[in-house]
Amino acid sequence: MCGIVGILNKKEDAIKMALDGLSSLEYRGYDSAGIAYQKDESIITVKTKGRVQKLKEKIDKNEKSLLAIAHTRWATHGEANDRNAHPHTIGDITIVHNGIIENEQELKEELKKYYTFQSDTDTEVACAFLDFYYQKTNSMIDTITKFMDTIKGSYAILILCKKEPDTIYAIKKDSPLIIAINEESKLIASDVPAILKYSKNYYVLEDMEWAKITKNDISFYQKSKKIEKEINTFEGSNLSSDKGCYPHYMLKEMMEEKESLEKTILPYLTNLDLLTDVSKYKKIEIVACGSAYHAGLIGKYLLEEKANIETHVELASEYRYKHLFLDSDSLVIFISQSGETADTLAALKKVKKQGIKTLGIINVKESSIARYVDDVLYTEAGCEIAVATTKAYVTQVALLSLLALKAAKKKKLLKEEEVKKILEEFYQLPRQVNDLLQEKESSKKIARMLTKEKDIFYLGRGLDSYVMMEGSLKLKEITYLHSECYSAGELKHGSISLIEKGSKIFIGATTELNDKTISNAKEVIARGGEIILITNDDTLLQKERKERILIPITSSFVSPILEVIPLQMIAYYLGCYLKRDIDKPRNLAKSVTVE
Ligand code: GLU
Repeated sequence: MCGIVGILNKKEDAIKMALDGLSSLEYRGYDSAGIAYQKDESIITVKTKGRVQKLKEKIDKNEKSLLAIAHTRWATHGEANDRNAHPHTIGDITIVHNGIIENEQELKEELKKYYTFQSDTDTEVACAFLDFYYQKTNSMIDTITKFMDTIKGSYAILILCKKEPDTIYAIKKDSPLIIAINEESKLIASDVPAILKYSKNYYVLEDMEWAKITKNDISFYQKSKKIEKEINTFEGSNLSSDKGCYPHYMLKEMMEEKESLEKTILPYLTNLDLLTDVSKYKKIEIVACGSAYHAGLIGKYLLEEKANIETHVELASEYRYKHLFLDSDSLVIFISQSGETADTLAALKKVKKQGIKTLGIINVKESSIARYVDDVLYTEAGCEIAVATTKAYVTQVALLSLLALKAAKKKKLLKEEEVKKILEEFYQLPRQVNDLLQEKESSKKIARMLTKEKDIFYLGRGLDSYVMMEGSLKLKEITYLHSECYSAGELKHGSISLIEKGSKIFIGATTELNDKTISNAKEVIARGGEIILITNDDTLLQKERKERILIPITSSFVSPILEVIPLQMIAYYLGCYLKRDIDKPRNLAKSVTVE
């Protein structure tokens, strides 16, 4: 999580550039913000709890520097306050850090003999460790090598050393770090948006690599060994991280769902051969977190039901520690918007060690997961800034659905005319999504109805239950209301006790299991529950339902994408009515790069 920016510049505007970069990375963490810059012989640090804007207000506009490192935090060790905010300084060393130092306790015990700690962070322990070895060796190469040999956990760290002015050290393990260059500057960042304004040419640090960056030079190392690195050119599109005329990124990004879907699926609709063939695998495991996990569940349903391939969906945080039952007939699919999700990346490394084939469904080009997988399919959703994913999620579902369609075709489980008909549905999908996005008033009306609620339920069966899981998560993220999603048939095995007069329940009914779903809905209605129905069959519960949103009738290859749109919109408008921080909900951050 967290955003890191480092600037070394020929002109004295490193502070401004670092703060600008930080603003474009703020979606990665926003508990606190801080900057350290070089002024004459000293290093000045300014930090604050809260947002980058607050930090900007604390810094004199006329302050100039050639060198700065900056940070937005997503706290893992110690509450979000000024004291725990980065940068941290001990002795000659000042650092900003993204990640978690796992052996901080034992290191702190030892280092306490020499240092007094000011914060509760693991980062300060890392800082003390670096200072301790630097004082002993007077060599940054030796210090960083010792650090990499000793420190457990994940880190992207920028280091300033008082005795080595005009230099930034950047070190990396399991957290992303890139270094961009142009004529004037060297820019170091945890993510592409921070540097795009200045340069499209950048180096990517791999695990256990580090760089010494000065105004005129960059040298790369792998621990103590000097290495050469190739420069990359960023070729992404639609990367505007500008809110345009929208009040929130989330709304803007929902409105971009049509275009994102078009860009993602159109090349494959005209030529399915371009898409990975998964029909040859006997078993597929899909590994993901959060919304990407929900997309995976839809993928599982389609791959099993339509392409007859045994498929399991696993949470990356569990998968990375569990026994794997894979062989040469298995494929593991990793889904991540950022391509940097720490748990997913760790799971990928584990699978690769066993030599199993891997496929990534990733939004950010050249991200770590995209580079490590054997094969990658990109969701062309462009830059997604709002923490709650919308456009990236629908494109993930679309790719999984197309993979299932291609496999079913290949295995002749669908007739030619059926495939043609489904492809035609995919062609219509972006427009239908757009039509649903225009139906703002019905979403607003339902959102208004929910403003006084404390608990909201989501029910469905089969595919509908997976879509409802995503609806429930969206609601929790954006509105902070408690919400539960159940497979509708499971409710009476315990959780129906939660239903009382006036309980609000979203029900998804778009599949051949509708009859079953409706029976379950009636059980809830009988106990006073009020139903908001998302369906493609207007005849359902005509008398009993409180509200309904109608989606077009389509096959199950595309219906989950249509069904989720109103759920995203309702969560969004309810968040607005409740005056929530829509794009940066409390406690959350985009791209979860810590375990
Ligand atoms: N673990 C560090 C802290 O809690 C860094 C967290 C981050 O990645 O922002 O301060």
